Amino acid sequence: MTMKTRVLQLLQGPEAARIRFTVMIGGTAITINRASFAMVANAMRNGKIGVTPFAPTALVGAQYVQPASAAAPSSGQLLVPPILGRPDECAVMHECTHAFFDLTSTSINATHEEAICYIVGALYNRMTHLNPTRWTQTTQTAGIIANAVLRRYAVGAAGIPVVDAGEFRTLALTVSLRPTYFLPTKLGDSTPAGLFGGILGGPTQYIHNG
Ligand SMILES: [Zn+2]
Repeated sequence: MTMKTRVLQLLQGPEAARIRFTVMIGGTAITINRASFAMVANAMRNGKIGVTPFAPTALVGAQYVQPASAAAPSSGQLLVPPILGRPDECAVMHECTHAFFDLTSTSINATHEEAICYIVGALYNRMTHLNPTRWTQTTQTAGIIANAVLRRYAVGAAGIPVVDAGEFRTLALTVSLRPTYFLPTKLGDSTPAGLFGGILGGPTQYIHNG
């Protein structure tokens, strides 16, 4: 099975079909649901997003690269590790959520975008019963929100659960302090999702040009 086929399977799998939640950011509702993953799957089938093998590092397990970045090919690329187990699948779901924000050109700061991607990963891990000892640290923090969302599904609450604003702020702060986002790749680089963002101005946006 090619990696692309495997990623498409994940995007069309039972977990992607169940994941649904809304985050309110500055009065704007941002919703992730099965339609979000279907959109990414379509873009992948149409060749708008490619899948490229990637060797994970200590800080980065997978990546989504927008077309405009210096290193990127002409289409968006999902850089994925060999998909061997559920932690890799979690990373792929996280990156596909970035791809969704890119495709929709959503106006959202990078820290909030990361936080939402971590909620997706945490929901995926819960749904696949991945032992929390194998979750990344930030995904564990997102697990608090995932648990609350899953409780809403369990009681059969109608509609799409809205994430608690305070819990979301806590998760966003945790993200902004993680070395992956807080420390520049090289001296002088900006850290869009880190606490200091464009060095002093706070978190800035990732490039979203679909
Ligand atoms: Zn991310």
